Amino acid sequence: MKSISIAILLNLFTLFSILAQQQEARCGFPKTTEEKKQQHGYFFDYQEQLNREIEKRKQEESLARTEETSFLIPIIVHVIHNGEPIGTGTNISAAQIQTQIDVLNEDYGNYHAYTNRTLPQFKDLADDARIRFILADFDPNGNRLAEKGIRRLPAPNGRRVWTFADFDRDVKPNTIWDTNRYLNIWTVDSLREGSTVFTGYSSLPDLTNLGGIPNNGSGNLNNTDGIVIRYNRFGSLAKIDVPQLRRTNARGFLFVYGRTLTHEVGHFLGLLHPWEAENCSFDGDYCPDTPLTSQEVIENHLNTECSLNQIRCGQVTMVQNYMDYGRDTCMTLFTKDQIRRMRTVLQVSPRRVALTKSNVVSYIDRILSDNISIYPNPTHHYIRVSAPDIRLKSYQIYHLQGQLVMQDYFDEITQSIDVSKLSAGIYLLQIQTNRGIAVKKILIE
Ligand SMILES: [Zn+2]
Repeated sequence: MKSISIAILLNLFTLFSILAQQQEARCGFPKTTEEKKQQHGYFFDYQEQLNREIEKRKQEESLARTEETSFLIPIIVHVIHNGEPIGTGTNISAAQIQTQIDVLNEDYGNYHAYTNRTLPQFKDLADDARIRFILADFDPNGNRLAEKGIRRLPAPNGRRVWTFADFDRDVKPNTIWDTNRYLNIWTVDSLREGSTVFTGYSSLPDLTNLGGIPNNGSGNLNNTDGIVIRYNRFGSLAKIDVPQLRRTNARGFLFVYGRTLTHEVGHFLGLLHPWEAENCSFDGDYCPDTPLTSQEVIENHLNTECSLNQIRCGQVTMVQNYMDYGRDTCMTLFTKDQIRRMRTVLQVSPRRVALTKSNVVSYIDRILSDNISIYPNPTHHYIRVSAPDIRLKSYQIYHLQGQLVMQDYFDEITQSIDVSKLSAGIYLLQIQTNRGIAVKKILIE
């Protein structure tokens, strides 16, 4: 009898340890003032200067027409794995990685499939950030990468679980590529501080270009700048069905649609959580159009619906903002003020400015991504393709499952495609040009 009770106790103990392990938090951003000071002191000290720059741009925008420049950011993904074959376990496939880059572009372009779910009172605040991401073509020596934007590296000493400090000390400095040319992203088995597992964490931009900031104000960013994400929170189950993204526990569906990276790139480009001040009298994220909030969004982890009516500071809070802590499927927007803040950082933070001019993306990719735009998107009737100085030859439209649904040649004059016969959904538009092939995602409503 005794041994049976011990067995039961042991089982209960295991169960509780598993439950304890399941505490998973959205983001490893420091919570206390002391931690913030320690990890990002240079960033929080310079908010006044950054806010002056943002305000200056806001004034300029209201005088001139809206600024049109779009920014392209090259990414290298360091897949830190446990020695599995490619596509297995932590050694995630290129296809899974590509779904994550697609989510990132859809979110920063505000053309994901759920823009119409944004609460009516916030709809006008959502916009295209005109920031896009692309997997790098070349390594730092100019050699073409075997897998676009991907490096595969075994975990040092086979270690699976990392604290932020250990990862920053033991992995980043030995693996990081030039932070002026790549947005470095590491995927890892697990990130844990105490009993909490984190989906990911990011560094903040340095602001040493702004007046009055000492040159040594950027800390250790040469060796640590970038984003770390758990391998099973990287990519979207809506786009690819792989074991890594399938639900493993009651909370497993919260973070498997690619929004961890959307959120962390927000930090990488200078955004803070909307509740950063933790009170209702100060706008903690310095973005006036995100409603004042003193506390993060709380999810009912077993309820699959989005709880959109959470009240903070006496008003409905913006549950759907990418910088709050909602679940992946409930997130839908960045606001105009958040976008202005990120775009300002891309123009004043030395390391971020350099990224947008990086040469690790092939000329063809850059030209095509920068210079081919399609509109309106979403659409009902037609798509116009705008491509100055590029000759469009032909196109094919594919269903997301890969089935060809339309194809034709462009005529010299109109460069538009009648899509009125296609049923609602997301499609891939592949365009042949005299400079190469471009692929764009289109949404038919
Ligand atoms: Zn965060």
